Amino acid sequence: MVTGQPVPVRADLADLEPYGAPQLDVAVRLNTNETPWPPPVAFSVRLAERVQEMELQRYPDRRAWQLRTAVAERFGLPPERVWAANGSNEVLLQLFQAYGGPGRPLLLLRPGYSAHPLIARVAATPVVTADLDEDFQLSASAAVAAVTRHDPALVCVANPNNPTGMTLAPDIIRALHDHSRALLIVDEAYVEFGGQSAVGLLDELPRLVVCRTFSKAWRLAGLRLGYLLGHDWVINDLRKVRLPYHLDALTQAAGLVAVELADQVTAHVAALSSERDRLHDALAALDGVIVWPSSANFLLFRTAVPDLFNRLLSRGVLVRDFSTQPHLQGCLRVSVGTKSDDDAFLAAMKESL
Ligand code: PMP
Repeated sequence: MVTGQPVPVRADLADLEPYGAPQLDVAVRLNTNETPWPPPVAFSVRLAERVQEMELQRYPDRRAWQLRTAVAERFGLPPERVWAANGSNEVLLQLFQAYGGPGRPLLLLRPGYSAHPLIARVAATPVVTADLDEDFQLSASAAVAAVTRHDPALVCVANPNNPTGMTLAPDIIRALHDHSRALLIVDEAYVEFGGQSAVGLLDELPRLVVCRTFSKAWRLAGLRLGYLLGHDWVINDLRKVRLPYHLDALTQAAGLVAVELADQVTAHVAALSSERDRLHDALAALDGVIVWPSSANFLLFRTAVPDLFNRLLSRGVLVRDFSTQPHLQGCLRVSVGTKSDDDAFLAAMKESL
């Protein structure tokens, strides 16, 4: 019998809200933690040259070997210990697909990056949680208690954390690893802006992997390129879940050019970090605003002003609204922009308060 009824989506996805930071056409967009400045001119010039030499009628290198080699050299690792995919989000999806799944829980800290539980759900991976304390910190004893209680197959922590901007010390990372048998994923999307990387712990902690991205400090969110540093057995497992030719030739070439121009990252990261500190102090000076210290390129702040998100939006400033979420009542997150973006945000804040 022919029926026009839609096919029901998987029952476990029925009430899932798609990831949705609003993409609105407003003057000042400070809601998705991109870097406000474009990549260097040399990036597009070199990429255009490479594109002309490409054989796009052919599939790309399935192993992305040149790109992985170039990234690996930056860390003094062999390419066998590096993996790359379409944004660190895809790296995370592949990790959850390979090591999660039904009956294999993933431990997340709350509040944390909103896409982690969403990606887990798509990968049919149950999520268990541990709450950060009121200062958005995790003590060593709370870390041990969480992994002991849940015995997760995976643990994933963003460090620096999003949306809090706070960091976990290496002894907490070590505690999460040593008191569990889980794969420990440290998501270092913002690490170039501050905090201590776990990369130096890779050789000591055999179940540790570190995820990085070109979307933030590297100014290439439009590219969709992220990577993982880990042990070669993890990379071998990821090859089982990746789609054939998952990383296209243009992205691989663009990533290579970005790595060639890596020394350009340092200067603008320094500029953005000092702009962050200026914005932090200006926010802290406003009456009725609590702002947390941040090691990333955004700031989390709390006010008691109702509907502040829309008040700012009506003044042409888009930030991220967490104000109705558990643990984050009254909180908004602002990405650090150019000085003029940030001044526009501060002016809108003063009017809205
Ligand atoms: N991890 C964290 C903590 C993030 O905040 C983000 C981006 N908002 C990502 C990963 C995803 O980055 P990508 O663009 O590499 O997928």
